[in-house]
Amino acid sequence: MTHDQGLVNAWIGFGANLGDPQKAIQSALRSLVSTSGTTVTAVSSFYRTAPVGFDDQPDFLNGVARIKTNLDSGVLLGRLLEIEAEIGRIRTSERFGPRVIDLDLLLFGDQIIDSDVLTVPHPRMQLRRFVLEPLAEIEGEMVFPGGITLSACLKDCENQEVTREGAIDFSEAN
Ligand code: AMP
Repeated sequence: MTHDQGLVNAWIGFGANLGDPQKAIQSALRSLVSTSGTTVTAVSSFYRTAPVGFDDQPDFLNGVARIKTNLDSGVLLGRLLEIEAEIGRIRTSERFGPRVIDLDLLLFGDQIIDSDVLTVPHPRMQLRRFVLEPLAEIEGEMVFPGGITLSACLKDCENQEVTREGAIDFSEAN
């Protein structure tokens, strides 16, 4: 994976299912674009997903973006949490409950990180079709740190229902 001039490719997963999910995701992407030292280099389509865990809540919209950044992983996580707060996510104790916006750091270059606040690769990404499908859309095949391939993970969660929707337009006009 690319490490030129201190720049690292990182992949961010996003999901939303409360209020106006499309607007929340567009707004999160605009905030990523305006993050210092960071360029958004690819964005998937929107994917519609039935909720995992608690069924009695609206469908999620999900997607994945690739960024190139000179931030270190901890600073990037802090920025993701800040963007979530700006967009008005109210944290509750329900891990899989409804949310205005959820941003996950899926991959940070080829690094494996296991600290008190950050686990990368994201611990559930390899099990979730709503992450793997948009990732495959922008990357084709990938080998994750540890050696497992994206296509092998996707094969294991074929039975999860995910519907590809339109392209994400996050221009200022939206
Ligand atoms: P949640 O929003 O429920 O996914 O939880 C967010 C919390 O998970 C953050 O405060 C992080 O400290 C922690 N966390 C650990 N690993 C990750 C990761 N790869 N991406 C995002 N949050 C993470």
